[in-house]
Amino acid sequence: MKRKKKRRYKKNELISKRMIMFIVIIAIIALIYFTSANKNKENASVNAFSSINEIVDEIETGTYANINRYIVYGTHFNIEGDMDISENNSIESAKVVAKTASGEEIGIDTEYTYENNQISFSTLKEINTGLDLESLKVEDYYILLKVEFSNNETKYYSLTNDTEYGNIEYYTLTRNHSNNRINIDFTTIDNMPILGFHITTVKELPDNVYDVVIDPGHGGSDVGAVNGRYMESEIALDCALELKKQLEDIGLKVLLTRDGTESEEEYTMYNIYDKDGRVTMANESHAKILISLHLNSNLSDNVDGGVEIYASSNSDLTFAKKLADDIVETAKTEYSTNQTDKVEDGVYVRTIEVEDQKNEASFSRENYKGIFDSIPYLYIIREIGGIATGAYVDGTNKAYGANEYRNSNVGIEGYLVELGYINVDEDLDNILENADLYAQAITNSITNFYGIK
Ligand SMILES: [Zn+2]
Repeated sequence: MKRKKKRRYKKNELISKRMIMFIVIIAIIALIYFTSANKNKENASVNAFSSINEIVDEIETGTYANINRYIVYGTHFNIEGDMDISENNSIESAKVVAKTASGEEIGIDTEYTYENNQISFSTLKEINTGLDLESLKVEDYYILLKVEFSNNETKYYSLTNDTEYGNIEYYTLTRNHSNNRINIDFTTIDNMPILGFHITTVKELPDNVYDVVIDPGHGGSDVGAVNGRYMESEIALDCALELKKQLEDIGLKVLLTRDGTESEEEYTMYNIYDKDGRVTMANESHAKILISLHLNSNLSDNVDGGVEIYASSNSDLTFAKKLADDIVETAKTEYSTNQTDKVEDGVYVRTIEVEDQKNEASFSRENYKGIFDSIPYLYIIREIGGIATGAYVDGTNKAYGANEYRNSNVGIEGYLVELGYINVDEDLDNILENADLYAQAITNSITNFYGIK
């Protein structure tokens, strides 16, 4: 018996020795793996654009186009710039293109002028069209200026960065539990400046990156519009929670700017530009789309209810129109009869053109302080768009603080949805009873427009 026991101990010792050996080997393998992974990361930008060698012969050397402005707004990339052409040769066209080594070439709608041997070009006619980042394949793309000369010659020029902005990391919307990471990088390869997109698939979004932000209007002591015991802030929150649920059901990662768990004091305390304020939260979310939910209230009798979608100026309104149409159809409501700022049925644009006012001789900081003194809710669209939408609240008006992201060249595409009029009984009843249908309409709009399953 004793002997047997001893032997068993020996056997156990042997097992634990083997275990230790095993753990050591695993540790060594892990160490080698992580060391090489880090090395790959360091060399990423060089390895990423090695395919440039396959198309470098097509690109002119010595002459480069300058980028003066570049913006990622929502899901689109756009640039503006210029280039001197030394040869006295008239041109037929100039176009910004995204080119891959495998031969794909995506032309981006470009407006250009050609004067005194200089081409000025811009893809920024509308801030939410241009190069659709969501449509790119998992490949390396190179952004080039393609010029067709009158003598039938076509030349490609690479681009240098003349802006104050650096590289951008963009994550596509979640589709089938998957996202692409697009590294928009300025680099130099063999003395040639390169603006390249390196695209890889990721299994999960980083913790601080979201697809969509939902902003339930008002909150805390700001209850918004009121009808009897019904408050806009509460109804907007109920609709926002329903919308969040439905968007998450189709796989999107959603951030709420408030979710009702904040105490009233806590929420009221937050300036919208504070760390926990809605503008800052949205700007930090890296989301592509923001939907702000509100209920309208008419002061006069000439509006009898209905849906109003507010979009940014200088933008293509296809998605705004789709939101309006889908809500009217699915939630069985009407387009608003309000004519102020109306662009088409259900679609409104009411963004103050700050740049215009700045250009006026009479304009001063003192003057434009006042612009912000009216109801701040509509400004969410502008203040989350950075330079694309002209975010400008810089702290001059001490009542509001400063938008730390006002100079960002990455912005969120924002839409403000006035679901209906709180003081029109038909609207109020419909929203209270059918919040799920309003949410379903918005979810369908996003699903269909952005191609999300
Ligand atoms: Zn409101």
